[in-house]
Amino acid sequence: MFRIFGFPGLLCISALVLPGLVLHAQEHPTPSQARNFAEVTSTGDLVSFLIQLDEASGYVTAERIGTSVQGRSIYGLKLSNGVFGEEARKPRVLIFAQQHGNEQSGKEAILLLASRILSPEYAQLLHQIDLYLIPQLNPDGAMLNLRRNGNEADLNRDHLLLDQPETQALHAVFDAWMFHAALDVHEYYPYGGDWEKGGFRKNSEVTVGTLTNPNISGNVRAFSSQVVVPFMLDFIRKKGYSCMEYLPGGPPPAYPMRYSTFDINDGRQSLGIIGTLSLIQEGMNGEDRLTHNLERRAEGQFTGMLAFLEFIAAHPKKIIRIADKERDRIRKGGRGDSLALHYEHYSDGRTLALPVWSYRSGTDSLVNVSNFLSRVRPTLGVKPPLGYLIPASDSLLLNWCERQALQRFPYRPAARHKIKQSFVHSFQTILFEGDTIPDPVIRESIVDPSLIREGDYWFIPYAQWKGRRLALALEPRSMLGLRTYRQFAYLLGIGSAYPILRVDNR
Ligand SMILES: [Zn+2]
Repeated sequence: MFRIFGFPGLLCISALVLPGLVLHAQEHPTPSQARNFAEVTSTGDLVSFLIQLDEASGYVTAERIGTSVQGRSIYGLKLSNGVFGEEARKPRVLIFAQQHGNEQSGKEAILLLASRILSPEYAQLLHQIDLYLIPQLNPDGAMLNLRRNGNEADLNRDHLLLDQPETQALHAVFDAWMFHAALDVHEYYPYGGDWEKGGFRKNSEVTVGTLTNPNISGNVRAFSSQVVVPFMLDFIRKKGYSCMEYLPGGPPPAYPMRYSTFDINDGRQSLGIIGTLSLIQEGMNGEDRLTHNLERRAEGQFTGMLAFLEFIAAHPKKIIRIADKERDRIRKGGRGDSLALHYEHYSDGRTLALPVWSYRSGTDSLVNVSNFLSRVRPTLGVKPPLGYLIPASDSLLLNWCERQALQRFPYRPAARHKIKQSFVHSFQTILFEGDTIPDPVIRESIVDPSLIREGDYWFIPYAQWKGRRLALALEPRSMLGLRTYRQFAYLLGIGSAYPILRVDNR
């Protein structure tokens, strides 16, 4: 990462303001705002605008954090009224948007936020938090208003593989600052399809979703779903925007609705699994997925972001404590934890009153959803190991460890270690969010440590802050594991040994 200094030809509104005296009585209009939201902000204008804010305010640092597949710049913006990341009492907060290029309003809202947070009205926020903004993670998709990136990859399914430069850039920033809280901003498209055939569509301007993976401690999940999300929804509603919890699935009654996916390969859960209070916000897209209703969409998303920041600014100690406690627990090896490898959505009997817009009556309405899978539970668990052994000859796996910035050490065999190897006997199938996926039937055998030569393996300890993410990636029966991705399918074959060994203490 490096700073960009002195971009030539920039408009600099308040260049004479000295660092330290940096609040603006007037906000800087964002590029789209300056055009009355008739156009979305282009990547070029976005970068110029961030650099303009940087030059105008000592609270702001714009930095290039990466380059897209097609060579476009990805920018981040640090906001702090001191030195970013230096004050231990301040939670570090990340908001990022436009992983999906055809979801434009999150980016526009982050630009509004970057501008407004410098005005006296919101200035108190930067007394309580340090804020990092990434308005546009997928400039190539944004350019063509397409969901995927320049490699036709869905970035929001790439957070475990980290195969794409855009997601790599995000995680490099995340690892550098170890944010306590994060908000991943999207849009959903309610028009057409099976919903319209059913006669209605979702009609909430802002939706907010929480953590659901059962490996994230119950306290954190409960805090996020029972405290943070209700606060945000109440805040958003009071500002005049319709809102509800983020609920994928449907349309009812044929298809169930549920709180969210539990896969750790998306933005929200990949950060949640490493001890972050991590939420998703989805605004309602325009009918043209571009500029339709853009101002209202951007203001709604801005309001949700503001709700998130207001909550954190009011509870800074609590937010820091939650993240620190989760990360400490993982770093200490998660003793007493059960690592959940399979899960399922299930109903606890509640029905859901879903706010919709009815095509028949042309009015807002409520639909009662009885097929509502409101809970997630583990169906297979193992104890966290001491660590894993990865063959030194497997460059694909080692590259993956590099991309995930995992701690690893050359393995020295030790008599106190109990090393297990798995063999794939056959495959059965299990349900995964409505699909069936293969699940290996495993036979285990103990490996004599004296048969392992120094230099054959790398040892990756579980006891590191990414330990849970690591274990869910490497356990052979993990329904979210690396072996479920095409490039790692070679890890599991009937009759062969799983090349990754599991190490426990005797
Ligand atoms: Zn999205």
